[in-house]
Amino acid sequence: MQFAAFPRVRLGHFPTPLEPMPRLSAHLGGPNLFIKRDDCTGLATGGNKTRKLEFLVAEALAQGADTLITQGAVQSNHARQTVAAAAYVGMQAKILLEQRVPHATDEYEWSGNVLLDQLLGGEIVAKLPAGTDMAAEMEKLAQALRDDGKKPYIIPGGGSNPVGALGYVACAHELLQQAYETGLRMDHVVHATGSTGTQAGLVVGFRGSNSGVPVYGVSVRAPKDKQEENVWKLVRATADYMGLPASAVERADVVANSDYVGDGYGIPTESMIEALRLTAQLEGILLDPVYSGKGMAGLIGLIRAGHFKKDENVVFIHTGGSVGLYGYREIF
Ligand SMILES: *Cc1c(COP(=O)(O)O)cnc(C)c1O
Repeated sequence: MQFAAFPRVRLGHFPTPLEPMPRLSAHLGGPNLFIKRDDCTGLATGGNKTRKLEFLVAEALAQGADTLITQGAVQSNHARQTVAAAAYVGMQAKILLEQRVPHATDEYEWSGNVLLDQLLGGEIVAKLPAGTDMAAEMEKLAQALRDDGKKPYIIPGGGSNPVGALGYVACAHELLQQAYETGLRMDHVVHATGSTGTQAGLVVGFRGSNSGVPVYGVSVRAPKDKQEENVWKLVRATADYMGLPASAVERADVVANSDYVGDGYGIPTESMIEALRLTAQLEGILLDPVYSGKGMAGLIGLIRAGHFKKDENVVFIHTGGSVGLYGYREIF
C-alpha cells in the first residue's frame, strides 16, 4: 500500500532537524554523533508521540470520535501530547495516570507534564496505583462514556499499536531522505525504547526500504528478552498492517539493551544524570530523565565499551520529554 494513503492529521513540524553533535563526539573521542530532533515536533513542547498521534487521531476522526482516552505514568509525555492533539482537533481528552514511580515528590506529581495536561484542557480522571491493569481501566472509562452518549477512542499506552507505529515508519523514511540530501551514511540509529512503537516503526521503515540501517533500542523498563519480544510482536503487526510480506522483517532486526534501566522505570541513574549534563553542557540540548537521558547513557556506555568504530556515523533519536525535568528537580 502506498504510504501516503494511510489517513493522517498534521499535528507536528516536520521534517525535524538532523544535526551533528561535534562537541559531544569530540569529548567521547568518536564516533561521529548526530541527533534527530524529534523533541522539536512542536506539539505543546513536542516529542515522539506526535508522529504516532498523527495517524491515531486521524483514525479517531474517521470513526467520529469526540473523546480521546489514554494512559501513562504520572509524568507521561504521551498523555501530554495526546491532550494537546485533542485540543487541536477539538476533542475532549481523558487520561488515566499510573503511579508507577516509587517515592515520587510533589513536583513529580504535579509539575512538568501534569501541569501541562491540565493547562491544555485534559481531564486527569484518576491517578491509579502501580500495577493497575490500565487497559482494563481505559475500557471501563470508555464504557461509561458510551453509556453517556459519547464516542470515545482509546489510544493504548505510548500510542504503540500498528497505527501509531506508522509515525516511526514515516520517521525512518524522513531520515533516509535527509541522509541522502546531506550525503550521510547512517551506520547506526540509537534511541530509548519503552512501549515499543518507536522502535517497531523504525525497524519496519528501515527494513521495508531495504536500507540496511540497524536500529538499537535502549530499554527504559523491561528486561532485554521481554523488550525484544514486545518490539518484535509490533514489528510483525505493523508490517502486516502495511501489507508487507512476512519475509520483509526479521527477528534479528530487533535489538534492545536493558543495561541502563537501573532500579526501574523513571528511577534516576548516575549514568543518566551524567548523560543529561554532558549533552546539555556540550551541545545545549535538553534530554529527559526517564527516556532520552537513559537512551543517551546507553549510547555513551556503548561508545566507551568500543561498540562503534571511530569513523562510524551514529544517529541518536531525541524522543523528547525534557518537560519531565521539572518533576525531578532534586536530582540536580
Ligand atoms: C514514550 C517515549 C519514549 C519511548 O518510545 P516508545 O515508542 O514508547 O518505545 C522515548 N522517549 C520519550 C521522551 C518518550 O516520551
